[in-house]
Amino acid sequence: MARTQVHDDERILSTLNVDGSRRWIRPKPSRGRYWKRRRAVAYGLIAMFTALPHIPINGKPAVLLNVAQREFTILGTTFYPTDTLLLALLMVGVFLAVFLLTAIFGRVWCGWGCPQTVYMEWVYRPIERFLEGEPGGKRGVIKDPGVAKALKYAAFFVVSCFLAHTFLSYFVGVAQLRTWMTRSPLEHPSSFIIMAAVTGLMMVDFAFFREQICLLACPYGRFQSVLLDRGSLIVGYDRRRGEPRGKLAGVGLSLTILPGGAAPAQGDCIDCFKCVTTCPTGIDIRNGLQLECIHCTQCVDACDAVMDKIGKPRGLIRYASQSALDGETRRGIRPRVVFYPAMLLVVIAAFVVVLVGKGTADFNVVRGIGRPFNVLPTGDVANQLRVKIVNRDSRERAYTLTLEGVEGALRAEANPVVLAPGKAFSQQVTVIMPMATFGAGHMVEAVLRARDGASLDRPVTIRLLGPESARTRDDAPSSHETEEDSDG
Ligand code: SF4
Ligand code: SF4
Repeated sequence: MARTQVHDDERILSTLNVDGSRRWIRPKPSRGRYWKRRRAVAYGLIAMFTALPHIPINGKPAVLLNVAQREFTILGTTFYPTDTLLLALLMVGVFLAVFLLTAIFGRVWCGWGCPQTVYMEWVYRPIERFLEGEPGGKRGVIKDPGVAKALKYAAFFVVSCFLAHTFLSYFVGVAQLRTWMTRSPLEHPSSFIIMAAVTGLMMVDFAFFREQICLLACPYGRFQSVLLDRGSLIVGYDRRRGEPRGKLAGVGLSLTILPGGAAPAQGDCIDCFKCVTTCPTGIDIRNGLQLECIHCTQCVDACDAVMDKIGKPRGLIRYASQSALDGETRRGIRPRVVFYPAMLLVVIAAFVVVLVGKGTADFNVVRGIGRPFNVLPTGDVANQLRVKIVNRDSRERAYTLTLEGVEGALRAEANPVVLAPGKAFSQQVTVIMPMATFGAGHMVEAVLRARDGASLDRPVTIRLLGPESARTRDDAPSSHETEEDSDG
């Protein structure tokens, strides 16, 4: 197929050749001080990610995101579908924390904490380098390139399998996962297909898609231009010190900054391209802050090693704000670093207040689906209600439904209801009241309670409808069938 040529001066994605084909990146690692720190952080994160679903807190997994049951357990606290406000506050809090982190430290998450970077740089690439060797560096342990490649993909497959299982354990729990793993796939084909599909996705991502996730798919990278300001910490090239760049021969004559602002004969950059060949997204940091830069600090380590060799101070590429790199004074206090923490505090306070006010159970009553009420052959009026109880406690509880003031009017299939910790139960109940109750033309307010014999005693006030009250309701139908009518 014919490829579109791109003009030489056009800015194209760092992983594209000018003819539009993929430029495969094989970065040369720079094992400097940041490399060692990132490695320690990465292995700590991998250990944590692997262990979290296995660690119990309050008898529950530390993290379990049970989407099917719509129950989300985070650090021993389970959120149910009734916790919409809490979940919304949690999400807003996470976003604000990310905004704040980015405003202060730039894309530190991308370079140090994102699973894509962590697994790519500290698991998959090391396997690749071990078997196939480093570009322009150490040779791999397998001499035959074909065998090395085959072994690499086999190793990638094993790691992807393990990673997929770990990932799935966050959504189905380790007990369920163990069951899946120990049974024949024929006994649970759908779950086996899910596991195989997730493994395949991991494989495609880390073996082929790689940095394209950061460049094309991740929305966070796209947002960075609005999340960062000139005071945010970035990985940046000190243009004032490095330019005009030139090959090593002229370095002995170079001056960093001449007094009086005169242009130096040559800057400290010796144009060795080590910062480019080490970059996992293939960019040249000397062209300024770019969307592709994940702030991995590899170019910092590469350039520091060069500066050590040529006897120049480190930090030609370094962590600094854009204003500091431009020679301006960095403003520590900026509107966004005041606004985000203030908002975050408000959200955290609201979250704590709502969480503490939740008690040990959720109790909710809504009207049943269908007719607002039925007039029974006896002349009594029946209202259908749907009652939901969620046991938020860590112990088994028995809940008894009572309707205050009109004892005997409540008909429920299960009452009391015994619930295991974290379980929810909903049922349709019927409230049967004499017709005369509604004779005055008003709705009846009843108080329904779910008592567990100990703490739960939060009533829900409901409105019971009858023939007279229905006529007074704006949204009520003008007439209602009785059961006799409908039967007939
Ligand atoms: S590694 Fe440093 S000296 Fe070499 S090209 Fe990059 S910025 Fe210049
Ligand atoms: S420019 Fe430097 S910090 Fe940015 S991605 Fe490349 S190597 Fe990492």
